[in-house]
Amino acid sequence: MSKAIPTFKATSYAFEEFVPAGNYIGGEWRDPSTGNWLPVENPRHGKPMSKVGLSDARDVAAAVEAAKAAQKSWRDVPIKERAQVMFKLKALMERDLVELGWLVSHENGKTFEEGKASVLKGIECVEFGASLPNAKAGEHLEVSRGVTCLETYEPLGVVAGITPFNFPIMVPLWMLPQALVAGNSFVLKPSEQVPLGSLKLASLLEEAGLPRGVFNIVHGGADAVNGICDHPDIKAVAFVGSTKIAKHVYSRSAATGKQALCLGGAKNHLIVVPDADPAVTTENVVASFTGGTGQRCMAASVLVAVGTVQHIIDRIAEVASKLQVGKDVGPVITKAAETRIKSYIDDAERRGAKVLVDGREKRGDGEGYWVGPTLLDNVSPDMPAGCEEIFGPVLSIVRVNTLDEAIALENNNPYGNAACIYTTSGAVAEYVVKRVEAGMVGVNIGVPVPREPFGFGGWNDSKFGAGNITGMDGYRFWTRPRKVTVKWAIQKDQTWMS
Ligand code: NAD
Repeated sequence: MSKAIPTFKATSYAFEEFVPAGNYIGGEWRDPSTGNWLPVENPRHGKPMSKVGLSDARDVAAAVEAAKAAQKSWRDVPIKERAQVMFKLKALMERDLVELGWLVSHENGKTFEEGKASVLKGIECVEFGASLPNAKAGEHLEVSRGVTCLETYEPLGVVAGITPFNFPIMVPLWMLPQALVAGNSFVLKPSEQVPLGSLKLASLLEEAGLPRGVFNIVHGGADAVNGICDHPDIKAVAFVGSTKIAKHVYSRSAATGKQALCLGGAKNHLIVVPDADPAVTTENVVASFTGGTGQRCMAASVLVAVGTVQHIIDRIAEVASKLQVGKDVGPVITKAAETRIKSYIDDAERRGAKVLVDGREKRGDGEGYWVGPTLLDNVSPDMPAGCEEIFGPVLSIVRVNTLDEAIALENNNPYGNAACIYTTSGAVAEYVVKRVEAGMVGVNIGVPVPREPFGFGGWNDSKFGAGNITGMDGYRFWTRPRKVTVKWAIQKDQTWMS
C-alpha cells in the first residue's frame, strides 16, 4: 500500500479518483487481512472513485496492540501539551479547507458548500478539544480540617468510534478531540461508504504532531464493528448511525464491560403555528429538509401544520420547487438509497397523500443517484412516510387542529432527536420546548445543529447511553473520574472528620 496520502486534486464536480482506503495502524498503512476490498462510489457520478478494505477482528486486534503501546507514553504527556495537537490540527484543517470540502463532496455527494460547511463544523469541535485544559477539568476542595479532596479525569486506555456515511469528517471529530486530549488512544471505524476523509484526518493528525499509534483506522463493515464490540481491551465505544445498529453496538459492547454511547436515527418534527413568521419559517424549513439532501439526523422530516398555515405551506412549496438538483441539492449516497426514498413517496401517494412538490424524476448533472426535494401533503402519522426515518429530501405534512395534538403526535414517535417550533410567541415556544420528547429543540431554527461547547445527543430511540457526545459530556465519556483524598499533617483542632 502507498504510504503517502496524496492531495485530493478536485476543484470542481468533475470525476476524480483517490487512493485506496487501507487500514492505518501504528502510523503505517496496511491492507486488510481478509484481502477483500469494496468499491467506494462517487454518488454524483455513480462510479467507483476508490476502494475500501474490508477488515475483521484480526485487524482490530492489530490496531488495539498498536494503540495500547502508544497510549503508555501519550497518557503521561501533560494535557496542555496534548491539546497543542488540536491547535495545530485546526490550523492545518483551515489551510486545507477547500481540499477537504471537495473530498467530502466527492465521497458523500454533498454540494461543495455543504462539504466545506461540514468541515468548518468539525473544526469547531477541534477548537473545543484545544480548549479542554482551560475548562474546569476537575474539583479541588478542602473537605475538612487539613483534608483535601481532588477529582481528576483519567484516560480509559484504548477507545473506539464507529461513524456513519453522512458526515465523513465532522462526526469523527465529535469524538476524537475529547478522547485524544483526555489521554486515550483511538481506533476509528469509518463508514465503508465514505472512508476517504478519515485518511486525510490521519495524515493531518500526523502532521500536527500526534505520536504514531495514538490514532488508528480499521476500515470495513459489520465484521470490523463486531471486532471492536468484542475486543476486551477497548474500554469505550461511541457509535453514530442508524437506530438498529446503535442498539446492536450498545448491547454487544456491554458484554465486554465497555461504556458505550450510541447515537441512532431520527424522525424530526417541525411544528408550525398560524402566528409563525412566513419568511423565517419558509427559509428554515426548506433548508432543513433539503440540506445535505435530507441525509442528516437533524433534517426536518414531518411538518406538523397547526390550523391555518396554508399561506406558509404554499411558500415552502414554491421555494422548494425552485431548488436546482445538482447545483443546490446533491445526490443521495447510493442507488439503494434512491430506490428506498422514492418508494416512500410512491407508497404515501398510494395511501392518499398529495405530492405537492415531486422530486422523483429530477436529476442532476452526473450519472449518479438523484432525488429532488419532495413535499407530501395530507400524510397521516401511521403511514410509513409519517413515522419512519426516510433519510432523503422528503417532508411529510401532517395537519392537526391544536398545539396539544401537534405535541402528542411528536411525543408518540419513538425517536427523539430534534424538534422545532415556528412561532412569534414566546409563550407558545416555551410551551412546546417543555413538552416535546426530543433532546435538541429549535425555536425558529431549521436544524438545531451541534454548537460547541453545547452537547449534542437525542432522547428515546435516537440515543442509547448516558450524556451527550460533544461538549463536556464527551470529555467525561472518554474518561473515568478518580477521587484523591490527601492529608499532610495532624491538625491541632482536628475533629472526627479530619
Ligand atoms: P448505519 O447504521 O448503516 O452505519 C453506521 C455504521 O455502522 C457504519 O460504520 C457501518 O459500517 C456500521 N454498520 C452497518 N451495518 C452494520 C451491521 N449490520 N453490523 C455492524 N455494523 C454495521 O448508518 P448510515 O447509513 O451510515 O448513516 C445514516 C444513519 O445515521 C441515519 O439513521 C441517521 O439518522 C444516523 N445518524 C445519526 C446521527 C445522530 O447524531 N443521532 C448523526 C448522523 C447520522
